[in-house]
Amino acid sequence: MFLECLQVGPLASNCYILADGNEAALVDPGGDSDLILKVIEREELKVKYIFLTHGHSDHIGALKDVKLATNAKIAIHENDAPMLLSAQDNLSIYLGDGFIQPSADIELKGDEKFYVGDLVLEIIHTPGHTQGGISIKSNNVIFTGDTLFAGSIGRTDFPGGSYTELINSIKTKLLPLGDHISILPGHGEQSTINREKHTNPFLK
Ligand SMILES: [Zn+2]
Ligand SMILES: [Zn+2]
Repeated sequence: MFLECLQVGPLASNCYILADGNEAALVDPGGDSDLILKVIEREELKVKYIFLTHGHSDHIGALKDVKLATNAKIAIHENDAPMLLSAQDNLSIYLGDGFIQPSADIELKGDEKFYVGDLVLEIIHTPGHTQGGISIKSNNVIFTGDTLFAGSIGRTDFPGGSYTELINSIKTKLLPLGDHISILPGHGEQSTINREKHTNPFLK
């Protein structure tokens, strides 16, 4: 599996490019489309899907450019899909010039499976940071967006946020996946389920 993490946009969001053979998926093209497209070109990848862990502006900022360049299918949970089309809902209006983005091609509900080369990507609905937050598992890694970070958890004070729901998502859907699973969050360093179970102050 090819996996590259790029820090993009003004909030240093992690954009992940994963591929098997020349087939690829993007997770959270939050900004700096030129950086993202450079890797795609360098590795001669055909991007099949763009997965959005949620609809906040720092995770969707490069969506239009990347969609235009790759024609990949945009997948986001149905609860967050309207955020692509509202500068208010995606919070971009509070960070400067508000923007909207192309609409979803695939509205997720959770528990779907997608194939990229021989990789299986499993969608897990993990609400709490937003109502349509998802995590995406493939082999021994999970992309957790702003649900779970190394040593922290996502904010719950934005519209649609719920602290109780977020903790419940993490404890019932992420931690049981197994200690050996690597966590690839939407911001900051990577971690493992084992490390977060034992050291994350929000999960004690
Ligand atoms: Zn967010
Ligand atoms: Zn974020």
